[in-house]
Amino acid sequence: MGIELSCSLARFFESATVIPMMNMSTQLSFDDGPGPSTPALLDVLRDASCRATFFLLGKNLAGSLDVAARMVREGHVLGNHTYSHARPGVLPDAELIDEIEQTDALILEAYRLAGVPKPASIPLRLPYGADSQDVRLNVLARLARSHTGWTAILDDWRRPAPSPDALLDAMRRHIGESVAQGLDVLLCLHDSSRYAEAHPATVDAVRMLLGDPDWQPGRCL
Ligand SMILES: [Zn+2]
Repeated sequence: MGIELSCSLARFFESATVIPMMNMSTQLSFDDGPGPSTPALLDVLRDASCRATFFLLGKNLAGSLDVAARMVREGHVLGNHTYSHARPGVLPDAELIDEIEQTDALILEAYRLAGVPKPASIPLRLPYGADSQDVRLNVLARLARSHTGWTAILDDWRRPAPSPDALLDAMRRHIGESVAQGLDVLLCLHDSSRYAEAHPATVDAVRMLLGDPDWQPGRCL
């Protein structure tokens, strides 16, 4: 899916003896940030040596370039999630392009602040995802941009959010099923929202997922 950084969860696969490896990877991605929970999430990822992709909203990024620069310094990938998180069909093409370009510019400013060379390309995930019929994909094609989806989206965007335990169970279930089929995993979680809300349950669930020494791939608890 164009994302080259792998989460350290891949080490679990490498230690498994009953599952063929076949270059499988498990990756985490977080949408809608930065928000109030993002620094705590970055602490969790840093402590677990886990690199993720953050699909950032321009309107949240504008006041949090320091947080985005920290993401870059700590090895994460910054992705574009448009500026305002408009629903499909709301924005005329020209406005969608403008939102993507505004957010690209903020992302590149974060790389500059971090003192890290700008990337060859910036991954992009449209708000609410995109199926093959989504007309917004025509805009991406005009921009020569591909769309990054996910293999599972967690319910942590709901209000109220599920408990950390429920999120953890959902992640483990998907990872376990994927491992059993030899499939890559790209989880879509949410470190904030279009209202820049805190998402503490997500942080706690990721902390538990990455910190459980007893968990093994292919064994869904
Ligand atoms: Zn979103």
